[in-house]
Amino acid sequence: AAKSMGRDRVRLFSPGLREAARWRLEVATRLRDEAIDQLVVHYQPVVRLDTGAVEGVEALVRWQHPERGLLAPDTFLAVAEETGQIIPITRWLLRETTRRAAAWAAEGLPLRMSVNISARHFSAETLVRDVRLALRESGLPPDQLVLELTETSIAEDPTRAEDQLTVLRRAGIRVAIDDFGTGWSSLAQLFSLPIGTLKIDRSLLVAAERVTGGEGGAVLAAIVALTRTLGIRSVAEGVETVEHLRMVREAGCDMVQGWLLSHPMPADEVPRWVRRVQEAGG
Ligand code: C2E
Ligand code: CA
Ligand code: CA
Ligand code: CA
Repeated sequence: AAKSMGRDRVRLFSPGLREAARWRLEVATRLRDEAIDQLVVHYQPVVRLDTGAVEGVEALVRWQHPERGLLAPDTFLAVAEETGQIIPITRWLLRETTRRAAAWAAEGLPLRMSVNISARHFSAETLVRDVRLALRESGLPPDQLVLELTETSIAEDPTRAEDQLTVLRRAGIRVAIDDFGTGWSSLAQLFSLPIGTLKIDRSLLVAAERVTGGEGGAVLAAIVALTRTLGIRSVAEGVETVEHLRMVREAGCDMVQGWLLSHPMPADEVPRWVRRVQEAGG
């Protein structure tokens, strides 16, 4: 068990073309009844670069499939999004993760909890109600929850997105833009929204690394400088190597997340991991 510490060995099950249709049907059927009980949440730490303190964790869902093993979200979430099952799944996730964060806080480990919200749920009437209910039931303070929304889910309907974001902000709930750099059309539009955090996608890191002569790092630095001007905090995602860490540190990113620090891990491993980092950091 110690050996697997900090690793989550998810399966990236990729069915063949003929099998794909059957898989979609299986997912759609199972997610309707028994599968929600088989979902598990792994948590990946987000660490502050200035102090080395653990800022919080991102909740990442997996499916403990009885025959196929631990499945990565990419294998089933697209179907859940299509069928609408993503909404009850996320409702469950919100309750599970806020309860978990409240329990950690009670143990003296206050960790900000980030939860991914799908485009479909973001545009649904129930989102704010679902979030408020989870907060009330768990007793977690609203500012300890971060909803991660992708650029694309906001781009679908920017006006409605702005309203929805304003409601969330008034409720004291933080919002992060996820996967920044993978598809936004207008920076100006993005930065006019009430968001607290920008998560810089791993693809920008990889691109920056490929550019020789330091311009890649300069692009990262420019993005970070822009966010800072706007009072938005930045997280570099997918930091896998010491070189990545050096680049994002130099660019001035506020926080990092990635395999270099930790793979996503089961809930029961989180307190030990956080305490070890705290003791090492001092
Ligand atoms: P994401 O929100 O961008 O989450 C980060 C993904 O990058 C996770 O994959 C994480 O395991 C992976 N990752 C973390 N560090 C590294 C690294 O250093 N290198 C690389 N190459 N990858 C790293 P995961 O868990 O497979 O999740 C994939 C996507 O599925 C997520 O991307 C998110 O869009 C979606 N997802 C996961 N959980 C949920 C959820 O509860 N609800 C919703 N709506 N979507 C979710
Ligand atoms: Ca995310
Ligand atoms: Ca992301
Ligand atoms: Ca992603």
